[in-house]
Amino acid sequence: RSAVVSLNDVSQTYRVRKRGAFAGASELRAVRRVTFDVFKGDSFAVVGESGCGKSTLMRLLSRLERPAGGEVLCEGQDISKLSGAGLLAFRRKLQLVLQDPFDSLPPRTAIGRMLEIPLRVHGWRDAGRIREKVRAVMNDVGLPDALYEELPTGLSAGQRQRVNVARAMVLDPEILLMDETLSALDQTEQFKLLALFEKLQREHSLTYIFISHDLAMVRKACNRIAVMYLGEVVELADNDRLFFDPGHPYTKALLSAMPTLEERRYRPEDCLLEGEPPSPIDLPTGCSFRSRCPQAFDRCVRENPLLTARGRTDLSSCHLVSSPSAIAAERASRST
Ligand code: SF4
Ligand code: MG
Repeated sequence: RSAVVSLNDVSQTYRVRKRGAFAGASELRAVRRVTFDVFKGDSFAVVGESGCGKSTLMRLLSRLERPAGGEVLCEGQDISKLSGAGLLAFRRKLQLVLQDPFDSLPPRTAIGRMLEIPLRVHGWRDAGRIREKVRAVMNDVGLPDALYEELPTGLSAGQRQRVNVARAMVLDPEILLMDETLSALDQTEQFKLLALFEKLQREHSLTYIFISHDLAMVRKACNRIAVMYLGEVVELADNDRLFFDPGHPYTKALLSAMPTLEERRYRPEDCLLEGEPPSPIDLPTGCSFRSRCPQAFDRCVRENPLLTARGRTDLSSCHLVSSPSAIAAERASRST
């Protein structure tokens, strides 16, 4: 399979002003050395708590921002370097579906008209063809024809989200980037939208990237999952492996907080998270997770177990997972 999107050692840093005793300019490292591939046909998820860097990653993937370091490739091209026609082609190829169905639709534009706009921006001129295309897409996402001239004001949350999906689909994209797309919907609507995503993926060979904090949704919808903590990807795995047998202590903690009837290879009660993540302005030495890790040992203070290997599907940045000798070392340090 070929990678449609690749991140190579991607970092993003923001300048911030600190207040108080240590006032002055400082760096917030929102994303740190993130490397992964998304393959054609994947439903890839990036998960983590708020503040873990997934929103920054979303902006980097959609070129709303350029990274401070590393590169984001789309079908082999560095998207930071695109301009003009190349950038327009990328904007067509990768479409963003945003979070809040009550904020993202202009209230005074009829639904069909709204869907015409991206086509016009991308050079469509023939009014008849535009109308035909918009109708076809509305039909594709399950919006009745009658809504063409209607304002979005009376729509349910689920229907509004369908309009958002239609707005992305109208340009025949290859990749949909979903930023918390289903978070505002109730369970029933979520199920319907997930079924729609499956249908669209089949019919249009789409690749999905979901940015989400909702693990239950990700379990249902995604085949590969990257777990982020404090700006880093700490684990990357296929769906079944991640949920049944997670490697990283942080993944275990996240999953332990999720109600499920599924069997798992760890004891949730051993993995619960305490405290808050450290500030991305004052990063800890060593492993980013060590202040909250129930299994931390001396090596974790000195060395950050960076996730750098490539080409494998199962990756976990924890000393305990990456080297069996570390497990022995941990046992030894505990018994003294
Ligand atoms: Fe915990 Fe150490 Fe693994 Fe980090 S490297 S997750 S602190 S055991
Ligand atoms: Mg965020």
